[in-house]
Amino acid sequence: MPAPVIGITPDITRESAAHGLTTRLALNLDYAEAIAHAGGIPVVLPPVLEPARFLENLDGILLTGGGDIAPYRYDAPTIHPATYGISDVRDEFEIALVHAALNADVPLLAICRGLQVLNVALGGTLIQHIPDQIDGALNHRQQELSIPSGEPAHPVTIRPDSHLARIVGTTHLMVNSYHHQAVAELAPPLLPTATAPDGVIEAAEIPGATFVLAVQWHPERLFQHYPAHHALFAALIETAQSRAARRATVVEQK
Ligand code: MN
Repeated sequence: MPAPVIGITPDITRESAAHGLTTRLALNLDYAEAIAHAGGIPVVLPPVLEPARFLENLDGILLTGGGDIAPYRYDAPTIHPATYGISDVRDEFEIALVHAALNADVPLLAICRGLQVLNVALGGTLIQHIPDQIDGALNHRQQELSIPSGEPAHPVTIRPDSHLARIVGTTHLMVNSYHHQAVAELAPPLLPTATAPDGVIEAAEIPGATFVLAVQWHPERLFQHYPAHHALFAALIETAQSRAARRATVVEQK
């Protein structure tokens, strides 16, 4: 059986290098480690081809965390001063990738910014800065608290009849938290599947899709020690396996 190939979206930055200003890709290795550990082949997707071209050669997609989405993409009239790290190239590539993946029913796991990209791609909106827009919000940036990296920070309550609940095997889960933005209006057909105690949407999925699952936390920083977080990657790989088998059959017939 061929191992499923999972495309991972990198961060895209403009940086000065010895030869001048250049566009660079960056990826925290733990995303790739989590995919490899679950039995997938991780590959990084540079924004140089139409997403559909990539999808012909992929069995699943992992949308990663990163900077904020340009607020005009969800029709926000202003940019909050705390909004940072906007990359138009990345926004455009990932939004197009979401549409292509949904059209082709390619399994999709979206993490942190990935949940926000999925929501914006489908017409939803974002809270630009949680502390200014939710009274009594938790601090969702655990780096500002004394919670070590690699440890969970706050609980989430999971909808019992969700795909997420089936995967993690519980309706109460401790998660880590490295975000200052969150979903405001969730776009249909996304269904909210987990919330923090302050009401922040922490997960969403598309009921009826083969596998479209998004979380606001970072399971790639927890998977080594917490089986419920590893289970997210294992479920993606398991679902991607049938697409990998189909693709192998098509190649043999050619
Ligand atoms: Mn959080």
